[in-house]
Amino acid sequence: MTPEQECRFADDLLAWYRKARRPLPWRRTRDPYRIWISEILLQQTRVETATAYYQSFIERFPSLQTLAEADMESVLQVWQGLGYYGRARNLQRAARTVLEQFNGKIPREPASLMELPGIGPYTAAAVASIAFNRDVFTIDGNVKRVLSRLYAIRRDPELPAVRKRQEAIGKRILPQGKARNFNQAMMELGALVCKPGRPLCADCPVSSACSALEKGLTDRLPVRSPKPAIPVRKRAVAAIRNRGAGLFFVRRPPEGLLGGLWEFPGLDLKSRESGKRGLGRLLLSLENRIRVEAVSAGRPFSVQHSYSHFQEQIYVYRCQGKNGKGGRGKNPTGRWIHPRNIENIPITGATRKILRGLELKQPPV
Ligand code: SF4
Repeated sequence: MTPEQECRFADDLLAWYRKARRPLPWRRTRDPYRIWISEILLQQTRVETATAYYQSFIERFPSLQTLAEADMESVLQVWQGLGYYGRARNLQRAARTVLEQFNGKIPREPASLMELPGIGPYTAAAVASIAFNRDVFTIDGNVKRVLSRLYAIRRDPELPAVRKRQEAIGKRILPQGKARNFNQAMMELGALVCKPGRPLCADCPVSSACSALEKGLTDRLPVRSPKPAIPVRKRAVAAIRNRGAGLFFVRRPPEGLLGGLWEFPGLDLKSRESGKRGLGRLLLSLENRIRVEAVSAGRPFSVQHSYSHFQEQIYVYRCQGKNGKGGRGKNPTGRWIHPRNIENIPITGATRKILRGLELKQPPV
């Protein structure tokens, strides 16, 4: 883009945004708490999905105070099915930090926002600009794609040098005092017009300034470096039934992947470990680790589940508590839950898949 084109760019984009923007629920408010919730929900999540979760989250926790005072399990329960559960845990920690250290007021400046758990440079810039109209440019996945095309950048936008270049461009093209709408307009352009794959250049409000269009590169940009293959991990889990009491679940440690969610007890298998050997180790570990005695009740079935950086192949063994019971006294790490009460606890996505498999393969408890 030439300097003259950059001058007109913001006006053209903002005029288009005023007419074309989607009426998303977080666009009807200036409440920084709600805008912050929406930004966290939108990380790694499609707008349609985030919208449904936003509504139930705000209904359940309408203010920073209600979120800060909630117990973690109820926060995870509202988040259930959305994945990346660290976001939910950090949201609550951040709400408490705002109450204790910022007098209950969400900070206005990106540097202060970044002191809160779960807020990185992108979210800090988004909240500061959208909630408080601070003059900071935001670069999300949509904006990376739009800038790569507008400036015909022929290198992967994830590379640090390209990122720096895009930040410098952002500083140049951001109109002072209009960051709230300008940032949202850039993201909206990427979501509605300058889409991944084939962009809708005929409908583009800034096509006259687009270098990729001029050079015939629109469907070749942005450049993506090849991704490394995703590793597959193997795991064996036991779905233990106990007549009358239900199924046995354990809770994951509060920190780390899926922290605080409930799942069937299990263990990681070695890459070449056979199902039979895995079952022996699994039953032994149930007895030693979680003090539940169980016997296998049939051949396993398998379930696949994908995470951002690996896939899991899960072998599910239907088991019966020994003598129809199984638990030895009060169990320190898990509990029996009747199927009709499962919806009251936050469970992992893989566990939900396994429950569906169990329902298909044998009658309910
Ligand atoms: Fe994207 Fe096409 Fe617009 Fe260029 S002209 S910004 S490629 S939609």
